[in-house]
Amino acid sequence: MFHFGVLYLMKKIMRRIYLDYTATTPVDRRVVETMAPYFTSTFGNASSIHSFGREAKAALEQSRESIAALIGARSSEVYFTSGGTESDNTALLGLAARYGSKKKRLIISAIEHHAILHSAEVLSKNGFDVRIVPVDSQGIVREEALLDSITPETFLVSVIHVNNETGVIQNLTTLAAIAHEKGSLFHTDAVQSFGKIGFNVEETGVDLASFTAHKIYGPKGIGALYVRRGIDLDPLLHGGSQERNRRAGTESIPLVAGFSKAAELAGEEMQQEHDRLLRLNSHMRNIIGEKVPAVIFNSPADNSLPNILSVSVDSKEMDIDGEALIINMDLEGIAVTSGSACSSGSLQPSHVIKALGRDDRTTMATVRFSFGRYTTEDELSFAADRLAEIVGRIGKRKKISLGAS
Ligand SMILES: *Cc1c(COP(=O)(O)O)cnc(C)c1O
Repeated sequence: MFHFGVLYLMKKIMRRIYLDYTATTPVDRRVVETMAPYFTSTFGNASSIHSFGREAKAALEQSRESIAALIGARSSEVYFTSGGTESDNTALLGLAARYGSKKKRLIISAIEHHAILHSAEVLSKNGFDVRIVPVDSQGIVREEALLDSITPETFLVSVIHVNNETGVIQNLTTLAAIAHEKGSLFHTDAVQSFGKIGFNVEETGVDLASFTAHKIYGPKGIGALYVRRGIDLDPLLHGGSQERNRRAGTESIPLVAGFSKAAELAGEEMQQEHDRLLRLNSHMRNIIGEKVPAVIFNSPADNSLPNILSVSVDSKEMDIDGEALIINMDLEGIAVTSGSACSSGSLQPSHVIKALGRDDRTTMATVRFSFGRYTTEDELSFAADRLAEIVGRIGKRKKISLGAS
């Protein structure tokens, strides 16, 4: 077909720029090298008693220790899962199963990942009292907002540490303290903050936290759940006694080893990489602020992760089709994410961007740039310029009407 032929040709000659690191990252070559021997030589089942099993078990426990070290936990408090989604589901559903007969209230923020949001919906259908705390215009959960909805009947408060759509960072220490005062546990989805900014379970006081490898240059299909000592949790998966009866199924040692290597590298390079990303972020903010008409920044400049920059085109000033915006960026070879999510077959405006107070049309006209280890300043300059050009070309400025309407 003509259409596909053109796309094919364009792909061949055009450079492609990946600015969707928040969705996933490429696996670092050093991680791939670390994983390789566990597929073929150290392949044992960690539950086996013989030497092959013991080797696998040793690798498993060493990986657990390095993940634990990075978050200030004991290794016995770290459980491997298949990723962020499973960790989030286990936290909410596992705690509800254990504590939910006495306490029925679950509190989550308005800007949670779907893994939390949809788990909470399941609980709501099963008779739990789910409350959603709003965020302010920056995307921050205010103490007062949490205090308004928390009661002694609350078994869990779950608030995302760094939001994956805007990069906004929550003050976990304060929120966890409020939860504890009311006798509630506190969970955080720390998938986006892990390995990028300091996250320590003792300093923040969180009781549970979710992590995944594929957002930090590790493999897909592996993550972890931190569960503070003494907290009970029902497993989602039933079978063998792996992960101290909390997660049945033979552990994938290659994935576990890759995850811990990725975490170690992220830990070692965190400060330097953070500074570099901060420079890239302000560079891009400057170009976008200068050149893109009717732009609104969704990522607060002084309180967000430097590798995420979300912007919207304000529908009050300019009308633009959000889908066309992303498609046009893709035609330029730039991979970014929009302000909508596919929900039961149709595009819906993102609940996260809407929670900041944006209308549906503005929310749909959102572009999230997220960058990382392999992004250059040159790529960001190019992407910002293309965005400005596309908005200018396909956007329709609204006439400002003076006087009577
Ligand atoms: C990616 C992501 C998840 C899901 O993790 P998977 O490992 O893909 O299941 C959960 N929460 C946040 C904030 C994420 O960005």
